Formats: sequence, C-alpha cells, structure tokens
Amino acid sequence: MSSPHGIATRALHAGLSPDPTTGAILTPIFQSTTYVQEGVGIHKGHTYSRASNPTVSALEANLGGLEDAPPAVCFATGLAAIHALVITLLKAGDHVVCSDVVYGGTHRLLRQVLAPFGVQSSFVDTADAAAVARAITPATKLVFIETPANPTLKLTDVAAIAGVAKGAGVPLAVDNTFLTPVGLRPLDLGADISVYSTTKYIEGHNATVGGSLVTRDERLLERLRFIRKSVGSIQAPFDAWLTLKGVKTLPLRLRQHSENAQRVAEWLERRPGVTRVLYPGLESFPQRELAKKQHGVHAGILAFEVTGGVEAGRRLMEAVELCSLAENLGAAETLITHPATMTHSDIPREEREAAGISDGLVRLSVGLEDPKDIIADLERALAIATAGGRESTPRREAVIAGR
Ligand code: PLP
Repeated sequence: MSSPHGIATRALHAGLSPDPTTGAILTPIFQSTTYVQEGVGIHKGHTYSRASNPTVSALEANLGGLEDAPPAVCFATGLAAIHALVITLLKAGDHVVCSDVVYGGTHRLLRQVLAPFGVQSSFVDTADAAAVARAITPATKLVFIETPANPTLKLTDVAAIAGVAKGAGVPLAVDNTFLTPVGLRPLDLGADISVYSTTKYIEGHNATVGGSLVTRDERLLERLRFIRKSVGSIQAPFDAWLTLKGVKTLPLRLRQHSENAQRVAEWLERRPGVTRVLYPGLESFPQRELAKKQHGVHAGILAFEVTGGVEAGRRLMEAVELCSLAENLGAAETLITHPATMTHSDIPREEREAAGISDGLVRLSVGLEDPKDIIADLERALAIATAGGRESTPRREAVIAGR
C-alpha cells in the first residue's frame, strides 16, 4: 500500500480526483443531509450525513493517504475522535495507560467523563518504557501516548512503546497532533492508531475544529465508523472542505513553522530573563537525540519560563501585541498560552506540577509571520514583563482570573 509519492504530492492529491459531474478540481461541499436512493437498499455509497458525507470522505481518503493507510475516520473535534477511540476499544472494567503529560482535555475526558463509566486510567511517564510495561495490567486495552506532549514537549519513543504494547497484546495510539504525518509517522514506527486534532496544523488557519483517526486495521476502522454513526460525532462537510484546503499546504507550512520556531527558540535561549526554553530543535533539549531520530521536522510549538514566575508570565501575555493570547495552537498566527490557567486548568495543581507544567510555563505556537517580527514583539513584551509592576488593566485581570 506504500505510495510512490512524497508527502507534498500526497497532501495535494492523495485520495482526491476531479468531481465526476463537473470536472471541478476541488471536491465540492456536499451540504446535504440525505441522498436519494434508486431503489430500496440501492444507493451511491451515502445514505445520511451522520453516517458519511462525500466531502468528509474525500478528506478521509486524503488523510489516510498521507500515512499509507485506508481512509481515516473524521470527527467533529479532536476530542470526539479520542472519545470514539476509547469507547470503541474499552468497556467498563477496562484500563488505559496514558502519558502523564497530555492535552488537558484528554485528561479531563479520561478522568472526569469516562472514569464514572468504569473505564480506569493510569497516567504514567511514557518516556520511560519500563514504567509503561509496569503500568499495563490484564485489564489494559489501550496505551495512549502524546508526543511531543502538550505543553512541556516531553517526547515518547514511539518504537520503544510499540514494542512494549505489542508484547502485551495492547493497541498503541499516538496523538500526533503536534507533528502531523509530516514530522512523525507513528504507524511506520509500530503504532496501531494515529490520532489528530485537525483543528491544529492540519487545517492550520484557526477556521475549524475537527479530529481524525488513522489506522491500517480495517476491522477497527469499521468499528470506529459504527461508533461515530451511533453517537453522532461526524465532522461537518464545510469543516471537512476547509480542512482539505489546509492539508494542501501542510508540508510547506510545517517546514516554515519549524524554521520560525527554531529562530525564536534560539533567540529566547540567549535572552536574559528567560530561565528555560523547551524546543526539540535546540541542542539543549533534554531528549535531543530522540528528537533527531524520531522527527522529520519539530513543528512550531515551544515552551519557556520567565524570571519572576507566574506574575511575569502573565504580564508577558498581556504585553504581547503581534502574538495573540489564545488557547489554540498550530495555526498561521502566533498564539501564546498560559497552560496552568487555560488549556490544562482542569488538571489538579499537584499533578500538573509533577508533570512539569509549572505555573510560570508559557506555551508559544510560533506562526508564519516574519520571525524577526515575532522576536521584536516578544522582546518588547519581555522587557515589560521582567521589569514588573505594570498597572492593572481589564485584560490583565481576565488573564489572572484565568478567564
Ligand atoms: N490533542 C492535542 C495534543 C491537543 O492539543 C488538543 C487540543 O488542544 C486535542 C487533542 C483536542 O482537540 P480538539 O480541540 O480539536 O477537540
């Protein structure tokens, strides 16, 4: 099934062909709930858009093609995809081994939504393969890793964990939202399922929310589509159409995001007042060797701490002008986030701190602006933040309150 084409060619063409009725080069938006049937049980592949939709199917063929896999299964959001995966593979009494550093919403889903239904989770340091092996019990039905992890960028060695999971007969899912198939190919490293919030780099323009699951296991694909139809979590056709547009430039964008992030990370590292910079492309990155071995590109997400702790971090976020204080990541615009009060606020403080998500940690999703302009904005904002003592403003109060 391996494609002879490179990733840039596949992003443009995999699974796609001109519309057979008009020749339109772009797959149309099939904004239709239902499809007229020629006779009872005789149809052209689609019956009702909660089960499938031609625009969504085109996106699915394209995303599967990027990973030498059959068509993906696309969802309304990334979390809807993770939810579908868990309820497809697990039932009450079963157990998930999950990375200790994951997107806060994944943690909330497992701990606060699925645990009351009897699905247990252990959050372990998946950078340590022996810890994963120890955490697997006879009830474990899924190992779920996120690499690089949101927001500390901690890496998990996918091939090592795939070996552990296979040895135990447990499927391995990799949340590959941060790197996309351009930066990391989980299925080629032995994982069973690649998980995406397409909201991030894949769509890439802050325009949609969406999710997808990619696997080469046809039986699992069928079960995932059944669950999606049954719970009603398919992606909307217009969002799928916009996501298809995003994928076309994904390889190009990801390379530029990576180049810009490298420049910003190197600059931050030299800047007085910045205590710690985490970016897999830096020589100082704690898992630099693994990053070199595992990644094509390192994408645009970095994290750093400023002297003056949480207050200085918050002043920084209030002072930026070109960068936007926002929850999303992986989009064209540079976004700055305070994980402790925003994306990871639902994780208890002790667990957050144990996972390295300090109150002073700032996450930066480096966008596609000229890097010199991003740096100039950060330079100005850091000068304000580390000088301290700015007057309070409504925006600052909102940030402090975590609104
Ligand atoms: N996985 C990761 C790594 C994320 O960062 C996010 C959202 O930030 C999600 C999953 C959830 O995706 P969505 O917001 O599309 O539901």
